[in-house]
Amino acid sequence: MSEVISLINLKGGVGKTVSSINIAYALADCGKKVLIIDTDSSGNIGKSLGVDINALEKTITDLISIAISDDVTKEEVQSCIISIGAVDVIPSNSLFAGIKCRMMEAYGRESLLKCVTEVIRDEYDYLIIDCPPTLDLVSTNALVASDSALIPVEAHFLSFDNLNEMFETITMVQKRLNRNLKVRGIFLTMYQQRTKLSQGIKKNLEEMYANKYKVFDTFIPYSIKAAEQPLFGKSLIEMYPSHPVTKAYKNITKELVSNE
Ligand code: ATP
Ligand code: MG
Repeated sequence: MSEVISLINLKGGVGKTVSSINIAYALADCGKKVLIIDTDSSGNIGKSLGVDINALEKTITDLISIAISDDVTKEEVQSCIISIGAVDVIPSNSLFAGIKCRMMEAYGRESLLKCVTEVIRDEYDYLIIDCPPTLDLVSTNALVASDSALIPVEAHFLSFDNLNEMFETITMVQKRLNRNLKVRGIFLTMYQQRTKLSQGIKKNLEEMYANKYKVFDTFIPYSIKAAEQPLFGKSLIEMYPSHPVTKAYKNITKELVSNE
């Protein structure tokens, strides 16, 4: 059985993309077959993995475009997939921004991405959707296509902004569009262990959400190596297999796999 997981937080810059990449490669390291789907028109997944996103012949935009008017076939999805080391990727780029108006007018507009994931999910153990930092139709599509949501939260004092709004959105999607959607959990990113700020944020997060959602014990430490990762176009697991950030992503991944 495959699992589709959305890395989602309506706040920008919290570590969704870095986490999508490193969890995907950590899953592959556990022997899982993984597909990352980039749903952000910034194309940061491809950019961070050394892909020239402006030279791509096919991206997620092509698949959504087909889904707007027709059935999507497995061959069409496969023609958009690029293999980057141990992981497959459906990349995105700025063209994705241009299709949003057409998505708004489409029949079944919340399920267009699901039309894509459903035809390919049997080929994979995990499909990881990297979401944009917006509460819009694209994020709704990601939640409708997903079995679960995984929420990175930056260990920063403004981090709880939008968090309630996001959980309300998840609840609405669960009620109206995808009853099977689960919240896999919340984990802290860019955690600075010695600072009172990070410690306070962790305590607040647990007080506010641990009664309802899993708050991972593992946090992702702040590290310049994580910030530099896009420069090398490789996951941290490939670059620095024993680094504390890599170990933290491996721990989160282990917990995901053990709760399969
Ligand atoms: P957006 O909402 O814009 O898509 P995002 O939530 O996907 O952002 P990322 O792009 O993954 O966030 O990360 C935001 C910034 O923080 C990037 O510059 C990234 O390199 C840096 N970053 C991510 N994780 C860490 C970390 N553990 N330590 C230090 N910097 C990090
Ligand atoms: Mg991102």
